[in-house]
Amino acid sequence: MTTLPHDASAPLPQAAASGDGLGCHAGKDELLAAAAAAGKAGILERFAEDYPQGPHDKPQSMCPAFGSLRVGLRMRRTATILSGSACCVYGLTFTSHFYGARRPVGYVPFNSESLVSGKLFEDIRDAVFATADPALYDAIVVTNLCVPTASGIPLQLLPKEINGVRIIGIDVPGFGVPTHAEAKDVLAGAMLDYARREAEAGPVQAPRTGRSERPTVALVGEMFPADPVGIGRLLEPLGLAAGPVVPTREWRELYAALDCAAVAGLHPFYSSVYRVFGQAGRPIVGSGPVGYDGTAAWLEAIGEACNVARDKVDEAKRKHLPTIRAALEGAPIKGRITLSGYEGSELLVARLLVESGADVRYVGTACARTAFSEIDRDWLEARGIHVQYRASLEQDLAAMHEVKPDLAIGTTPVVQKAKQLAIPSLYFTNLVSARPLFGAAGAGSLAAVVNGAMAGKERFETMKSFFEGVGEGPSAGVWEDVPQDRPDFREQNRRRLEKLAAQRKAEEMI
Ligand code: SF4
Repeated sequence: MTTLPHDASAPLPQAAASGDGLGCHAGKDELLAAAAAAGKAGILERFAEDYPQGPHDKPQSMCPAFGSLRVGLRMRRTATILSGSACCVYGLTFTSHFYGARRPVGYVPFNSESLVSGKLFEDIRDAVFATADPALYDAIVVTNLCVPTASGIPLQLLPKEINGVRIIGIDVPGFGVPTHAEAKDVLAGAMLDYARREAEAGPVQAPRTGRSERPTVALVGEMFPADPVGIGRLLEPLGLAAGPVVPTREWRELYAALDCAAVAGLHPFYSSVYRVFGQAGRPIVGSGPVGYDGTAAWLEAIGEACNVARDKVDEAKRKHLPTIRAALEGAPIKGRITLSGYEGSELLVARLLVESGADVRYVGTACARTAFSEIDRDWLEARGIHVQYRASLEQDLAAMHEVKPDLAIGTTPVVQKAKQLAIPSLYFTNLVSARPLFGAAGAGSLAAVVNGAMAGKERFETMKSFFEGVGEGPSAGVWEDVPQDRPDFREQNRRRLEKLAAQRKAEEMI
């Protein structure tokens, strides 16, 4: 008989069992302790190693699980099942469909009884068996959100495969995976590792379009659709081709990715993906072919990793670098900029802005510092630019206040604050990271949107003066009398919450 790490007879810590008011808003310590006690200590240690935490102890952007959810939903013939609190699942499915998932997200609900008794695991198991139709699916991804992870729901005990359908069980708790970017790595790494074991065990499916005649470079990081094509052109003179992009869009692409000559670690936070590539013996090249300097260094590094002859590397540089220089000169950017985001490509974008002529003062990324962004960090810091890893919203805002930029590129709350201050601003995710970044196509791609935004400064000033006096904070809105701020109410509420937290702690100790 299999022994579950989650012993049904043992009472669960109150925090994990109730899940009430815990998760991304509070109770991180309780959830961590509960998860460790429930058999998840190993996975938490791995997370701590792969995704070291920053100055803030909880996600400051969307639920991290959205990252892994999106990776699964974008893959062909892949089913997705979530296990978590209903409110979390509601938010995640809503966001998925908002971003055009166009396929169902499975959900195994629970209550305190099924969570505590171990019945939830049985329900998940039943759902997986009911879904595992090889005519429809190559893989099923089952994700434990915060509360089931804290309760030790042992997804590792699910069958690895049912009727030829692979079963991938992952834990993606907000108290262990700090950003949605890193959650992408959790799933992409788990899938790549599964595919690596399959490839080691015997023959696997070839790519849909057949194997490349030239050795390939696998590309790691979600990117603008034209970027892999552009990178392919850069690689041509080296006798290489662009391989699949990881996270992949189809299971069989995982094998093709593993079959590469080298890996381009374009997004630096894919720690578990890089570990699997390392286990497969593939060299990994950090940074990316961004701007003139970045492309020159990247071609050298790829040439070295793939043992390409010197004359071919020189030829590639001769062929591509003048075009990139011309594109940069043809689309200059003038202005002071602060930049922050949670996509993981912030340092690369900053390099491109600098090479376009922008005066970038601050780069904040929600992701952690890893070996694969060291080249970019060195390059930016050598130019006096402050690079902040695991940047908190407070740090991003402080930089904006201090630098007083002509343009603030950032996350939603940064942009919102910038607008209040009449500083032109751009959303990193929607407007900057959704453009080509690499090679010649990337070189001129940011100028129009960045210069356009900076040219709007006057409009922001007009708007600010137009709305001057309508109130802000507690007095915002349309009123007959200006509402009075009541800090005493806030104080009362704070004391009430503290009392509740103390009560909860006392209950746990009973
Ligand atoms: S699953 Fe996501 S939304 Fe739910 S508590 Fe955890 S971090 Fe928050």
